[in-house]
Parts: sequence; C-alpha cells; structure tokens
Amino acid sequence: MKPVRDLPIEKLRHSLLDWYDAEGRDLPWRIRPEARAAGQIADPYAVWLSEIMLQQTTVPHATPYYFKFLDRWPSVHDLAAADEDEVLAAWAGLGYYARARNLIACARAVSAAGGVFPEAEKDLLALPGIGAYTAAAIRAAAFDLPASVVDGNVERVITRLCTIPEPVKTSKPEIRQIAAEIADPGRPGDYAQAIMDLGATVCTPRKPDCAGCPWSFACAARAEGHPEAYPVKAPKVAKPHKHAVGFAVFRGETIWLRKRPSRGLLGGMLEVPSTEWRTEKWSLTRARAAAPLDVQWAKRAIISHVFTHFSLEMAMWRAEAPTGWEPDEGGWHALGDVDQLALPSLMKKAVLGAL
Ligand code: SF4
Repeated sequence: MKPVRDLPIEKLRHSLLDWYDAEGRDLPWRIRPEARAAGQIADPYAVWLSEIMLQQTTVPHATPYYFKFLDRWPSVHDLAAADEDEVLAAWAGLGYYARARNLIACARAVSAAGGVFPEAEKDLLALPGIGAYTAAAIRAAAFDLPASVVDGNVERVITRLCTIPEPVKTSKPEIRQIAAEIADPGRPGDYAQAIMDLGATVCTPRKPDCAGCPWSFACAARAEGHPEAYPVKAPKVAKPHKHAVGFAVFRGETIWLRKRPSRGLLGGMLEVPSTEWRTEKWSLTRARAAAPLDVQWAKRAIISHVFTHFSLEMAMWRAEAPTGWEPDEGGWHALGDVDQLALPSLMKKAVLGAL
C-alpha cells in the first residue's frame, strides 16, 4: 500500500479539479465551477434534498423524485407543513422509508429554527437523518466549506489509488484520513463533487477508465494492472431468506390497506396484512389461522423482494370481503390509485400479484 506521505497531494488536487472543470457532471442541484467562482451559491434545501435521496439511489433514479419534491414543496417551510402521508406517497419507490420520515422531521426542525440550514458540522449532525456523510456533503456543496465527503464512490477511488489491502468495512478510518488529506481546502465544494464524479463516471466498479483518469499518474492499483481487485471484497455472508403469506382483501375495485407501525422496516407505509416474516415456510393451516378474515382464500402469485439484510418470498392470497364486513384499521383504496399511494415496492408487488 502507498503511504499517504508519498502521495503527490498538490498534483492530485490540481489534476482532479482541472478534469472536473472540463468533464464534471452538470446535475440539477449543483453549482458549476464557473458559477461558483462568480459568487453564485447553491440552495442548501435543494442540496440536502438531493443528498438524502441519493444516499441509496442512483442519480437517474433519484432525479425525477428531486424535481417532483421541489415542484410540490419548493422550500423547507413547504415541506415542513406537508402532510406526512403525502410525503411518504411521493417518496414511494425510493426505498429506505426511514429516510422519508427523517426528511419530514428534519424539514420541521429547520423550518422551526427559521428555515436556514446550519453550516456547522455539529449543528447539521444534530438534525434528523443527517449523518457524517450528508453533513460533509452539505457543508462542501452548499456552503463551499472544507469537508471531506466520503461515499461508496470515494471509498473505491481511494482504495485503488493507495491499494488498500483490507475490505472497506475494516479500512474506513484509513480511507477517511487519506480522503481528508487530499481534499482541496481552496475549492472544497468543487473538490467534493469532483471526487464523487470521478468514482461515478471514471473509476467505476467494473472496467474503470484508467486511460481517461486524472489520477492515473499516481494510482497504485493501475500500476499493479488490476484496479478491479480493489476495494478488496469482504467474505460474503449469506442473507437470510424469509417466507410470508400476504392477504389481499378486495371489495370490487378497491383493496383494504393498513398503515405499518411508524418505527421499523417500511415504517408508516401502507401494507396488505401478512403473516409474520420468518425463515421457516408457512403451512396452509398455520397461514390460514393467521389470516385477518375467516373466508375462502384463493392463492395467487408468489412475489419476491430483496431487502438490505434479507430476502423475502410472499405467497399472495386474495379474498372478496364479505358483505357488511369493515376492517378495524386502515381503509379501502381504489385500485386505480395504487401508483399514488404510500406503498413501498414490496407492497405494490403484493397488490398487483393478488389481482
Ligand atoms: S487510474 Fe484507474 S483505478 Fe486508479 S483512480 Fe483512476 S480510474 Fe481508478
């Protein structure tokens, strides 16, 4: 591994920023270098919104959501005043719904404090849903303040630049230290965006474009000839596989949906009722005993979904609600509204699978 002291830090900064000035991505929440140099500043609300959306999502997937949110809630005060269910419905499809709940909580905290996002790292970290990465990204991209932004893209670039021999999980502190030492204090906002772009467009997980890379002159992984060997992979741990039976209750062209508890997985989102999600398969008798209604159930599709820590297979059963029966919780929703509801991807599959 190349020690940090051996890195040509000034040259790395200059070549990366020169490359960024010419090749950097023009993203809607960004200020381009020439505009920043002319004194234009980014909208911290827009930067924050984009960073929260991009935490687990790609730029092409997040961009339409970004525009939708800005269109519906143009300022942090608008978002703070929004109905939570409407925000969750607008978020549906972006996954990791705890982020959407934190988004609302953060907007309310900022709005209550006057609507101005704080600049200090400790004040940003005190806001719901803002961790070290997002705080650094807001400080750099919105306020052009020195901050070392380290996401998965940056981790990959640094592990290759220095041929770090351990998996990212165990080498994070070292990666952070190297990233912080290289970060350019003269143009912090542009530098943060530049290194993220380098990872996203040049130093890609597969087939990095070393010939077009502004850091190829110093890159140890390129010199070794196998840049794709970095980051070193951690031994794979198999994800648990879970089983469940979902119960879709229809009444004509409507379906009964209820709200999940506000904390935990898919918290606050709508769902079809289901059995417990467990690693053992469900027998017919046990599943029937767990059904919310004692009626004739018809088996429909089996749907699959992969979460971060486990995968799930849900057998979908359907039934027509008996005349006069009304649920104790939740309510009836028109099937034509499915796309507008706060339904996470799994539950959307469940509804469509049960039709
Ligand atoms: S030279 Fe290749 S491996 Fe090294 S940082 Fe550039 S793209 Fe990545």
